[in-house]
This record gives sequence, structure tokens and C-alpha cells, in this order.
Amino acid sequence: MSAEPAPSRLVVRSPANGEVVGEVPISSADDVRAAVARARAAQPAWAARPIRERMEILLKVRELVLADLDNIVALSARENGKPRHEGLLHEGFAPLELLTYFGSEAERILEPQPIPLRLLKHRASYIHYVPRGVVAIIAPWNFPHHLAFGGAAMALVAGNAVVIKPSEFTPLITQHVRELYVKAGVPSACIEVVYGHGDAGATLIDSGVDMVEFTGSVATGKKVAAMCGERLIPCVLELGGKAPALVMDDADKERALHAVLWGGFANAGQVCASIERLLVDQKVYDAFVPRLVEHVKALRMGDASASADVDIGPLVNQRQLEIVERLVDDAVKKGATVACGGKRVDGPGYFFEPTVLLDVTTEMDIVNKECFGPVVPVMKLHGETEMIAEANRSHLGLLAYVFTRNGERGRRVAEQIRCGTVMVNDVIASAAMAETPWGGLKQSGLGHTHSDDGLRHMCEARHVNYDILPWLKKELWWYPYNAKDVPMLRRMMNLLYGKGLKRFS
Ligand code: NAD
Repeated sequence: MSAEPAPSRLVVRSPANGEVVGEVPISSADDVRAAVARARAAQPAWAARPIRERMEILLKVRELVLADLDNIVALSARENGKPRHEGLLHEGFAPLELLTYFGSEAERILEPQPIPLRLLKHRASYIHYVPRGVVAIIAPWNFPHHLAFGGAAMALVAGNAVVIKPSEFTPLITQHVRELYVKAGVPSACIEVVYGHGDAGATLIDSGVDMVEFTGSVATGKKVAAMCGERLIPCVLELGGKAPALVMDDADKERALHAVLWGGFANAGQVCASIERLLVDQKVYDAFVPRLVEHVKALRMGDASASADVDIGPLVNQRQLEIVERLVDDAVKKGATVACGGKRVDGPGYFFEPTVLLDVTTEMDIVNKECFGPVVPVMKLHGETEMIAEANRSHLGLLAYVFTRNGERGRRVAEQIRCGTVMVNDVIASAAMAETPWGGLKQSGLGHTHSDDGLRHMCEARHVNYDILPWLKKELWWYPYNAKDVPMLRRMMNLLYGKGLKRFS
């Protein structure tokens, strides 16, 4: 019996209604290697262009994305099930902000950095930034434009070529946006896209790229890290989250309510920064939670490609639906109360009702594992110390949110939470603040993207140390060694590092 031939195309179906949205060819291993080879060949000429030219191209991309927003939003609704409002914000506003920041600031950020030398004042040092070469960008499906092209914009402006491997669930928007980059003036070989499943991503890492920027699950992130370790190439890993929202006893309950609603249910909860644990101080629990439940019940679920009046779209696929269902069932079996929602919706599409779970305990998987669905589990806690401890109990540490009217308290609590970013009285929005770092601690990832540091990390930081007293023929410690120099060197070290001379310390 002959084995079934592997499919040669990715057929994309709407997660809202099952209709075919489009298809792309699956890249073979040879295709992936050829894309990397083309990118490698094209990169030196791209890097040789003045950085100002690359910045202008980024700003031109911004212009094209802005003019094309309606198409991007419509495709996000069809391919990804995103409500149009979210298509605009997530796939429009956030990338536009990244293009603007790095299109305006890259030259300043990548200027050589002098390092003042403490002791050897007859020499000088500086760091200069050289593009790494070919950067692989491996992206998930939940923000297919923002995540694939945010990283690409940074890598490109720094002078790298990129090869993008979008998620197998959202290749169409990547294909579409790539055309805008090429139209804006990025050489097509400097922005290659390869399509396929996980094996295409693995082949890409194995194809001689110089850096990997990976966004996806913790499990895949570990495999990517192992492959990069084997090849000794740097990787940035942007992985899962389990963001807690702490509603303190002095929170502005109205603001907290609307923030939790949006932070828990935007993109049907399929955001790495989604509120995945709601920790409410028992003093405000009764005034807060029932109102939240009322607002969740009022959210309108539907197919965003058919109507603009949709607050929540579907989950991305059957697997995601089953994960959410399993976590809710486990919680209910262990004693959680379903305040609203709690089950999948019959009919076409992968819809799960917006859900709030009460009486949740730490034994339940719903507060320990990433859910990535429209489910907010609520815990009633007693005071700040208990809330901070619960926030920190997770193995994930991407985002956390603190709600309080007291600004000083907000920052003090924020500083005690071990997460890449803690926002006070807001949710998720720092993803669009291009100048701030985006990255997780603990199992949520390694390194960060966005920010000046994130851009510099797209480059090799090379150190040059040079002489500023060229007439000095010889250093004290060079050959030939001489017995009488030993006590002299010894005295010098005492002088420098002993208690006698404070001015050198
Ligand atoms: P995933 O790990 O299943 O897939 C991510 C990408 O990796 C896909 O393109 C996939 O094809 C590819 N891939 C799979 N196996 C691979 C391998 N062995 N080698 C190389 N590439 C491989 O993740 P997903 O389901 O697409 O995305 C959801 C996850 O992404 C969630 O955990 C979410 O929290 C996380 N995420 C994190 C951030 C962040 O900024 N930290 C942002 C968005 C999503």
C-alpha cells in the first residue's frame, strides 16, 4: 500500500464559517533553503544602503499599509475571524506605530555608542552595530500581520534580510502584506516568505540563518531554542502568557471593569497578553464581579466577515476549541461555578461562549495552563500580599495588570510582580508602544522585541578599542618581563584597588 502523498498546498478556511478563503503552496525543504540563499545573496547590498534610505522605505510601507487598511481588516476577518475593530487595532494601529518609530528613530538607535573607559585613559572604546545577515521570523496565527511584520520591519531597517514563516493557519495576510513591503522598495529577495507547518519552520532554522525571532507556544519555543543552541545562533523567544489582573480594594471599579472586559475577551482571548486570571480583593468582589458578568453576557459573538457589529469572533481552529473546552470542564469538575457561558456553540465555526468562572482554586488547570480562549477565571483574595503571591505563582511571566487609584501603590505592587511588563490601570496596549520592550520572563520567553534594545539586538554589537596616544610605543605589562617590575606592578595594584586611593574606585 503506498503512503498518501503529502498535500502540496495550504488551504485556508474561515474559522467563523468554514468557507475556503484562499490557499498557498507549501514550501518544500529545497524551497526554504533556496529562499534563505536568495536572502543571503541580496542582504549585503541592502545593508550597504544608507540607513536613512531604509528608514524612508519603512515610512513608505506605513503609507501603503494605511491606504490598504480596509483590505487588511477584511482579510483578518475572513482568515482569522477578527472583529473589524480588532483588525484595525491589532493589524493596523500596532504595526503602523512600529513602522513609524523605527522608520524615524533607527539611525539614532544604531549610532555607534562610545564607552568611557574607567582606567586606561590612553585608549578609547565604542560599540558599533552591524546587521546579523539573514533573520528568520517564525510567527503564530493570532496577530499575523503585527507579529510577522513588526519583527521584519526592525530586522530590515537594521540592514538584515528576513525570511518569514507565517503560521499554517494565517498565510494569506502575510503574503498580502509582503507585497506592500516589496512595493515600497524592499528588494523581494530581502523579504522572503516560506509556507508550511512546523517542519518548514524547523528547516528554516536549519538553513544557515543568523538569528531567529520566534513567537509561539512554550513547547515549540523550547524546540526552537534547542535548535538555535545547537547552531549557536541567537534567538528571541516570545512565548505564552498567563496574565493576572489584580483588582485591588482601592481600584477605580469602572475603569477596571472595562479594562478586564477588553483584556479578557479581545480576539476571543487569543492574545498572549490576555487576562487569564482575575484576582479580586474580597473587599470589592461583590461590587465588581456581578457587574463584570453582566457585561460579559452582553458581548456579541459572530462572523466579523458578515457584520461589523461583532465583539467576539471564533477561536482559530478545532484544536484550540478543544483546549478551551477541556480547561473549562476540568474547572467545573473541580468545583468552579459557571457565571456565564461555559460551552461551545453549535453550528459552523469554532465559537466558544464568553465565559466567567467563579470559585476557582489553584488545583484547577484553568489557572495554571495557558487557555487562549474567551474565559476569565476569577479568584477572591485577601489583600495585596496574597494577590502578589498568586500573581507570581505561575510558571509564565509575560504581562500583568494592577488596578488601583493610588499611583504610588500601583508602581510598588507592579515592581513586585515577576513579568516582562506590568501595566497599572491598563491592559495589552504596551504591545503598540514601540519604544518599550516586549518580552517575557520565566517560561514566557527569552530576550525581547520592540524598543531601542530590541533593534540593537537585530545587529551584532561589535566592540572597537583604539589608541588615542599613538606616540606611546609600549605598554607597561608587555615583554620583556623583568624581575624589578613585579614589585612595581604589585604596588600599582595596591594603589589602584587598595584602601589608600579612593579616587580610582
Ligand atoms: P505554535 O508554537 O504552535 O506555532 C508558532 C509557529 O511555529 C508556527 O508558525 C508553527 O508552524 C511554527 N512551528 C511549529 N513547530 C515548529 C518547529 N519545530 N520549529 C520551528 N517552527 C515551528 O504557536 P501558535 O499556536 O501558532 O501560537 C499560539 C501561542 O503563541 C500561544 O502560546 C501564545 O501565547 C503565543 N504568543 C506569544 C506572543 C508573545 O508576544 N509572547 C504573541 C503571540 C502569541
